Amino acid sequence: MHSYDERLTTLVFDYMRQRLALDPVPLDHPGEKDKLDAALAGLITPEGADPAKVLDIYDQQLSRAVISADSNRFLSFIPAAPTKAALLFDMVVSCASLQGISWLEASGAIAAENQVLRLIADYAGLPETAGGCFVSGGSAANLSALVVARDTANVPNAKIAVSDQAHSSISNTLRIIGVEALVVPSEDHRLTGASLRKALEGQENVIGVVATSGTTNAGIVDDLKGVAEVARERGLWFHVDGAYGGAGLFAPSVRHRYEGIEHADSFVVDPHKWLFAPFDCAALVYRNPGLARAVHTQDASYLDVLHTDGGEWNPTDYAYHLTRRARGLPLWFSLAVNGTDAYTEAVERGLSLARETAELIKESDHLELIREPELSAVLFRRPGWTAQDYYDWSERLLAGQIGFVTPTGWEGETVARFAFLHPGTTIEIVKEIVATMRD
Ligand SMILES: *Cc1c(COP(=O)(O)O)cnc(C)c1O
Repeated sequence: MHSYDERLTTLVFDYMRQRLALDPVPLDHPGEKDKLDAALAGLITPEGADPAKVLDIYDQQLSRAVISADSNRFLSFIPAAPTKAALLFDMVVSCASLQGISWLEASGAIAAENQVLRLIADYAGLPETAGGCFVSGGSAANLSALVVARDTANVPNAKIAVSDQAHSSISNTLRIIGVEALVVPSEDHRLTGASLRKALEGQENVIGVVATSGTTNAGIVDDLKGVAEVARERGLWFHVDGAYGGAGLFAPSVRHRYEGIEHADSFVVDPHKWLFAPFDCAALVYRNPGLARAVHTQDASYLDVLHTDGGEWNPTDYAYHLTRRARGLPLWFSLAVNGTDAYTEAVERGLSLARETAELIKESDHLELIREPELSAVLFRRPGWTAQDYYDWSERLLAGQIGFVTPTGWEGETVARFAFLHPGTTIEIVKEIVATMRD
């Protein structure tokens, strides 16, 4: 099974070719457990099965029970829209077994990943000394960064200030690392310098603050400048969670919203969201990577060889992981091949579609816009609908393969939400979807 097999290779490459060429990518459907179990029954045997048969079961049954995140009609949660170059290079990372653990083992891959981290740091305005690594997602990045915040401060009963709008992974992180959340009430769903300053009054042991540059639900960017100012006054670790919205740094039309991000001690952006990389890929950048190294470097006799004084860069020293895939490389290849202008244009496209959609909703007589979109998420309501109406509508849309648009909550109300980022999503698709909300 380790020798090259022409037939198997052709079979899988042909499948990949077809999948890459799908335009549009079909949404597909949620699966039913009984049917999936039946398709899989008896498939793993002592002797092995014909690859054509196994691939056919994958193609016909399993893959159809995965809603395609890269469909231009996937407008729920945060969609995905990896570039073709990034997808292709992901296969190179796989077939070359590229890992990115240590400089000793993988300097070529790590140098390329670091080139991308440098580019992201430059967009954020972080100093030359900034650096970090790619991890599996925003959750892993937030956890890794806040462990550094906690251990750097080394204060008993430490607290970290978070907005009541912060992503669920932040409260998860704080629970995991045993740090209490000082929940700061937001102002119109934004964490501001003023609200943070007020919440800090009389507080002790607060060692950091988390701001969000693009809330997942509504795309709201916190007052980074104001929060940074308070963080500096009080000596707090300033963490910016841009897992979704950090990509807006590439877009001149919204760049002003990120003012203050250049003061971040740690910053996260998920290229597998809005920077068009395949799953799973999150960039974690520290202002002072030495602090992260001091916290995350694993100590084991067989790892001593990785740590010399040779100026090596070991991605494993900047998060809680050890073994890691060189998951930054698909993005590196795509950035190099397509150029940064293409990224700017693609991010701008999601932003302008959100603005156009907001206008469309305001002009319609059956819908109401909840707030002007700051980034590429649009919240709106259908007056008169109950929560159940939204859920039924969402199910009908998916059943008809018109769109995957799930409802969300807003100030206690169930409402409709679009998340745009796929450059292939058009205003015509949006019109088709909102037309189904008439009755
Ligand atoms: C998506 C998201 C996360 C979590 O990222 P994963 O890659 O899903 O782990 C964290 N914070 C924000 C703001 C997000 O949008």
